[in-house]
Amino acid sequence: MDIRFSPEEERFRAEARAWLAAHAPAHEPPEHDLPARRAFDMAWQRTLFDAGYAGISWPQAYGGRGASLMEQLIWYEEFARSGAHDSTTLFVGLNHGGPTLIARGSEEQKAFHLPKILRGEVIWCQGFSEPGAGSDLAGLSTRAVLDGDDLVVTGQKIWTSFAQIAEYQELLVRTDPEAPKHKGITWVICPMDAPGITIRPIRTIAGGSDFCEVFYDEVRIPRRNIVGALNDGWNTAMATLSFERGTAFLAEQVRLTRLVEQLIAMARTLPQWGAGGTPAATTPAATALADDEIARRLALLRAEVEALRSMTYRSVSRTARTGMPSEEASLIRLFFSELQQRVFALAMELLGPEILAWDAEGSPARVSSRHHAAPSWVSHYLIAFASTIAAGSKDIQRNIIGDRILGLPR
Ligand SMILES: Cc1cc2nc3c(=O)[nH]c(=O)nc-3n(C[C@H](O)[C@H](O)[C@H](O)COP(=O)(O)OP(=O)(O)OC[C@H]3O[C@@H](n4cnc5c(N)ncnc54)[C@H](O)[C@@H]3O)c2cc1C
Repeated sequence: MDIRFSPEEERFRAEARAWLAAHAPAHEPPEHDLPARRAFDMAWQRTLFDAGYAGISWPQAYGGRGASLMEQLIWYEEFARSGAHDSTTLFVGLNHGGPTLIARGSEEQKAFHLPKILRGEVIWCQGFSEPGAGSDLAGLSTRAVLDGDDLVVTGQKIWTSFAQIAEYQELLVRTDPEAPKHKGITWVICPMDAPGITIRPIRTIAGGSDFCEVFYDEVRIPRRNIVGALNDGWNTAMATLSFERGTAFLAEQVRLTRLVEQLIAMARTLPQWGAGGTPAATTPAATALADDEIARRLALLRAEVEALRSMTYRSVSRTARTGMPSEEASLIRLFFSELQQRVFALAMELLGPEILAWDAEGSPARVSSRHHAAPSWVSHYLIAFASTIAAGSKDIQRNIIGDRILGLPR
């Protein structure tokens, strides 16, 4: 691997760092106010677009920056380093829907949707998972039948993030129930205001309702909204993966590095907890960090985020050299998601009984901010349960590692 940066790449880093320092929003939108988050994310995306930083991995021909893999790595590092707001409501459009249209969409679909996605004018959601089809996505049963120029869709999706504020959905439907399960699926753009759609938000353990159940009762979608060919939706969905090589997850990793440092800073401010959760000592010197065991665990976390970064550099470097998506992606994803859970679990131990403080809306209070200018550790802890489920559960990642990397027998 070669992880040295060229003079041009270093120049790009300096330019990105300076721009982010001058333009990154100084505050975050309210976590559980989705309309406010939508407006905030759209405005921030427009700022990025106007400066030429939208669609960092998108080809220039479609309005993106067309950055090399190394430049993408640098951009996401600088983005996270600056503390810039991560527009999660726009994630599907920018990292999934848009790239799929670039790879497989018709010229008409590209011309209509891509500029809107890049400028942050629309929100896309992903309608893949169903109550009976998650890890085994190809087992999906939401039906669509052709009727004249329309597909008529009936069924249910679940865990659809941001469905309640989205304009469009990338929707997988079964169009040929007789065909083998990977063959009879179609990928279609569903307008979320189509008659017959009912959206029910699901409240999560963290207090918000970021995802929903979506019901379809004879929803008519124009046939021209099919991306790729009828019954070839599995290939369309896979084409996205060959475009998006996971660099968008880099920012999450760098953010985790920052959080570990914030955790160490917080440990310095906390008194040691004695048995039963009462302070064992309150002198400034007797911080949680003075406890050998806690210091050892914090040091281990710091070493592990460094190991994660090295694995990522190695993987990006190899992909840049070979042009092939790295097989290590599952390994990195698994290590990251479990490490993240360990970081927040230690934060919970350090904060002790304070984590029980909840605000008037039933959300975890920002307890840590009383000690240190840090994020809500409780929110992070609760949300991180999802990280070993979403985007392929930890068991599925282990299956891929065993099968494709280690070559173990099935
Ligand atoms: C925060 C969050 C956001 C999400 N957003 C979206 C979204 O916007 N759109 C969308 O379509 N989906 C979304 N999902 C759904 C997500 O893709 C699924 O939860 C995931 O694919 C797992 O499917 P499942 O929940 O049906 O679990 P299942 O597949 O039923 O798995 C249940 C358990 O069995 C294990 N398991 C299953 N198969 C195997 C196997 N072959 N070998 C070993 N163990 C196995 C799993 O690891 C898991 O522990 C989201 C999920 C989360 C947590």
